[in-house]
Amino acid sequence: MHPQFKLFTWLVLQDRLNTRNVLRRRNKYLEEGYNCPMCHDDVEETAVHLFFQSTFSVTVLGLAMVSARKYISNAPTSEEADSVIILHGCSMVSIEGDK
Ligand SMILES: [Zn+2]
Repeated sequence: MHPQFKLFTWLVLQDRLNTRNVLRRRNKYLEEGYNCPMCHDDVEETAVHLFFQSTFSVTVLGLAMVSARKYISNAPTSEEADSVIILHGCSMVSIEGDK
């Protein structure tokens, strides 16, 4: 594992990333507020939200997984539904891939 990825993962797991909720905790004033600017869901930006719950990040992650799967398999998909199951909050969301 690349050292920078290790450090980043450690920061996420320790809740030490400078997400907006951490900046609020450190009494840093943000004129634009502390909500996630990516999805406009009126939710405070936390590491969990940023990586697993934000509508924007979930969409990007789903598209990346579909692309990676196509790149790895390098073969046409079968008749069965080609889907990517991604974690979205507490519920599972299925994104159908193109056939
Ligand atoms: Zn968001």
